[in-house]
Amino acid sequence: MRRRRWSTRDPLVADLEAAVGAGHVQAGDAAVHLYSRDGSAIGGGRAGVVCLPGTAEEVAACIRVARRHGRAFVPRGAGTGLAGGAVPCDDPVVISTTRMTRILDVDIERRLAWVEPGVVNLDLTRHLAGTGLHFAPDPSSQQSCTLGGNVANNSGGPHCLAYGVTSAHVAAVEVALPDGDLVVLGEEEGDPVGYDLRGAFVGGEGTLGIATRIAVRLTADPPEIATLLLDFPTIETAADTVSAVVASGIVPAAMELMDQRVVRAVEPHANAGYSLDAAAVLIVELDGLPAGVAREVEAVTRIAGAHGADSVRVASDEEERERIWKGRKAAFGAIANIKPSYYLHDTVIPRTRLAEVVAEVNAIADRRGLIVMNVFHAGDGNLHPLLVFDEREPGVLEEVFAAGEEIVRLSLSVGGVLSGEHGIGLEKRQFMPLLFQPADLDAQRVLRDAFDQDGVANPHKVLPTGASCGDVQGMTRLPEGTWV
Ligand SMILES: Cc1cc2nc3c(=O)[nH]c(=O)nc-3n(C[C@H](O)[C@H](O)[C@H](O)COP(=O)(O)OP(=O)(O)OC[C@H]3O[C@@H](n4cnc5c(N)ncnc54)[C@H](O)[C@@H]3O)c2cc1C
Repeated sequence: MRRRRWSTRDPLVADLEAAVGAGHVQAGDAAVHLYSRDGSAIGGGRAGVVCLPGTAEEVAACIRVARRHGRAFVPRGAGTGLAGGAVPCDDPVVISTTRMTRILDVDIERRLAWVEPGVVNLDLTRHLAGTGLHFAPDPSSQQSCTLGGNVANNSGGPHCLAYGVTSAHVAAVEVALPDGDLVVLGEEEGDPVGYDLRGAFVGGEGTLGIATRIAVRLTADPPEIATLLLDFPTIETAADTVSAVVASGIVPAAMELMDQRVVRAVEPHANAGYSLDAAAVLIVELDGLPAGVAREVEAVTRIAGAHGADSVRVASDEEERERIWKGRKAAFGAIANIKPSYYLHDTVIPRTRLAEVVAEVNAIADRRGLIVMNVFHAGDGNLHPLLVFDEREPGVLEEVFAAGEEIVRLSLSVGGVLSGEHGIGLEKRQFMPLLFQPADLDAQRVLRDAFDQDGVANPHKVLPTGASCGDVQGMTRLPEGTWV
């Protein structure tokens, strides 16, 4: 293993400092360690040097410096990604956008805003308060994740069921390409003319360049919102209700399901009003014109009753609505009350198979002696089994990763896909051949090469590479520096 020692006299560090200012390059042990991983359980990374540009031009300059020194680069936002996408491989320059937090322009009439990539998701919606508009994609990490990360991962969130994931809300992106040029992909108005390169870039996980400015579409606040909290005696009855609601023709703004373990972990802290006796709790949010919302509340109540719901409660005011959502958004943090660590999975399955697949996920965890908690975007079949563990227990990590692989294979076996929103990153690239034929993977590689012929943008992510590049077989956690 090759380890590089950096000093401020290192020519690469000196050139980066010339590009972004001496205070905005970090090469010490703390930075190397801090930027070596993201929010996932995947390890193996080691940041060589970290730079924090303040403008699009500085991002492009950092890329050019990295290339001049023969180094790859890794774009990074807040590091909340859950697939190892921002984990640094190949001794790269990490280019973090967290200083680029300006909301450059808001055009209320055209419902469009230009933002820098380091803007935190929730800060944009807070900035828009009172305008009657908001940014619709709302990942559960929205208090900390950046819009650049959302674009790169084509992120989703509870309200993406009706409104669509990030791609539907990005009109154009300014990109620093892997050769250091700045280009704009997409248009402020209208659908893309010719090949939709904006569409290719969104979800590119930082392998096609770095988003330096983003034109996001803004969504009108709905005139009426009803938030329903439903208790069920089993997870199957809750899952069947989700399918039946969508089959009835209603598309709720959100449908989020939590099992009893999640509810019992969250409720004592969030005081969200969840029933501790329910085997599953479902949040359904309906929005639109008042008369339509009232009709849909009745319909959902009727459908839930027919599927065995124990109770249906409609939030009586904004304060109660916020409490219901606070519980859901605090779910991942609350598991610390059970075990210190978790591995959060992300696959999509056909909504009609929810009940049987969740039962099988629970059986996988039982067989491996693990605790699994289920909290997920049920409306779009996006499973999020949380395997919680204490890694000080001998052998537990191996069981966690093996269970994760079983969950992936189970999801694919029922016609699902590898990821609903967290992306492929390092975590799932070795499973890509389970979903795609070699010709499909080659086509994706050709697209990547069109942006990045030399493979310097976020190497080793998304597409499987050969064993010589340190390919990993199956899910596993790698020690820091594996990829250096
Ligand atoms: C508690 C918790 C809850 C979560 N809930 C959700 C959820 O509901 N829905 C969801 O979709 N995700 C969720 N996530 C995952 C994560 O928050 C999202 O993927 C988010 O979009 C990542 O943003 P980030 O700024 O942290 O990006 P990072 O983790 O820093 O990077 C993610 C990827 O984007 C690339 N990247 C970052 N910035 C740029 C840029 N400017 N240009 C090009 N590439 C870039 C990186 O190279 C990497 O591949 C959750 C994570 C946590 C920890």
